[in-house]
Amino acid sequence: MLGGVAICGECNGRMSSAKKTKPGGKTYNYYTCNSVQTGACRNPARMRKSDPDRMVNDFIESAIGDLPVIEKVTKSISESKVELQLARQRLERLETDFLMGRYDEEGQEESYWRMHKPLTGKVAKLRTEIAQAEHAPEFIDTGHIYRDEWMAKDDEQKRIFLQRHGVEIKVSGTASSGEPRSVNVKIPDLRKIAAVTGLRARDGKDWAEIATMDYKIPARRRRNSGPDEQAGSAERVTSQNI
Ligand SMILES: [Zn+2]
Repeated sequence: MLGGVAICGECNGRMSSAKKTKPGGKTYNYYTCNSVQTGACRNPARMRKSDPDRMVNDFIESAIGDLPVIEKVTKSISESKVELQLARQRLERLETDFLMGRYDEEGQEESYWRMHKPLTGKVAKLRTEIAQAEHAPEFIDTGHIYRDEWMAKDDEQKRIFLQRHGVEIKVSGTASSGEPRSVNVKIPDLRKIAAVTGLRARDGKDWAEIATMDYKIPARRRRNSGPDEQAGSAERVTSQNI
């Protein structure tokens, strides 16, 4: 679910999912910093898959579950802008030729206006289109809430959903080092969405508080069976920064 989405808290590089089979035949799934092989990361984050997966599920369902899903609108007006430039250049050339007397011959003025009219029409139409696109809302309401969209998805669809909505998941600490580990989940666009759409936070909460969540996993004693085996009891704490 978080392969390619989760970020290593040490080097800010992507993490990918990996699988390990113990001598007994049991397999463990975990996420690990991509730089673990190259040694480019000083302290590559590594975490049993189920921990951050559960935290992201919790974040979507409890923190933002009731909020409407707002999507960023991608504007594609670059082609219209090129088209407008070409049409304006043709129009200018035509008008210059006219002023230079190139349409002075008998009957030529008519042909000048025959070309001039559709060109001015085209320029005006493109200008209107571009202006409308530029003033279109940056976000649109999909009419769904996060919880409903989220719960209907499988792991791969969830991964795509997280990427599309710019959800950031930062994993810090390694299971084996014995240091405290944490997962920070945040959705940076939420504040902007709230400002643009007039969305109100529940219970007078600040958006910064809602849009980000820190999950701590207490350090645990290492047993001979390896770092990934024990279930961590994660505790949720909110953080102030977005
Ligand atoms: Zn790293």
